Amino acid sequence: MHVLITGANRGIGAELAAAYRARGAEVTATARDAAGCLALDVTDPVSVKVLADKMGDRAVDLLICNAGVYLDKGQSLEDGFAPELWAATFAVNVTGVFLTVQALLPNLARSAAPKIAIVASQMGSSTRNTGGSYIYRASKAAAINLGRNLATDLAPRGIAVGIYHPGWVRTDMGGTGADIGTDEAVAGLVERFAALAVATTGCFETWDGRAHAF
Ligand code: NDP
Repeated sequence: MHVLITGANRGIGAELAAAYRARGAEVTATARDAAGCLALDVTDPVSVKVLADKMGDRAVDLLICNAGVYLDKGQSLEDGFAPELWAATFAVNVTGVFLTVQALLPNLARSAAPKIAIVASQMGSSTRNTGGSYIYRASKAAAINLGRNLATDLAPRGIAVGIYHPGWVRTDMGGTGADIGTDEAVAGLVERFAALAVATTGCFETWDGRAHAF
């Protein structure tokens, strides 16, 4: 199995790369700028194209769109949430997912059972409008919507698309006070990705196997 992961240099992405390697999978770990990873800035169409060219005619069995940013943490409703933060966040969390999927479709098409996993967040669910973090929430809501529409378009091609909440995870993004470690989050995610199939395409699930409301 060949797994391609975005944002694989730290946090959940790095743990996913290690977990798949430990299971004997072939892993293409990508990152903006990190030793041991192939270069991929998901916001840069040229970078995405260079990566796709490097993949050539290799099959990709599982594409994990993990790269993400949370730039508006702790912003104030009065003077926070600058337009630049909206643009920078959507460039990674939404457009970046789309560009990566679009560029790697030919490689996914070469797999016998291709899958795309989008690491979104429960913060994008329309059922969790607890306020604040407007930009991150809106970007993850858009990522969920993107995943649902990709699922519709790609099912006839046999490509399954799953959307996931990884838990509140102790990473640079999640912080030290988060609920679970990357080992626990990734052990669950790997099981979820294994279970993903065209029959379940468009699902939104938590790392520990619960269906999440959209
Ligand atoms: P981290 O902040 O630890 O890691 C984020 C990763 O995304 C880094 O590898 C970073 O690379 C990469 N990245 C950021 N911008 C780009 C870019 N333009 N191109 C390529 N890679 C980029 O976050 P986590 O590991 O915690 O998060 C992983 C995913 O899980 C994210 O999508 C996040 O939104 C989601 N998530 C996390 C939760 C948590 O509690 N931790 C909860 C819910 C969802 P670099 O080192 O270059 O910045």
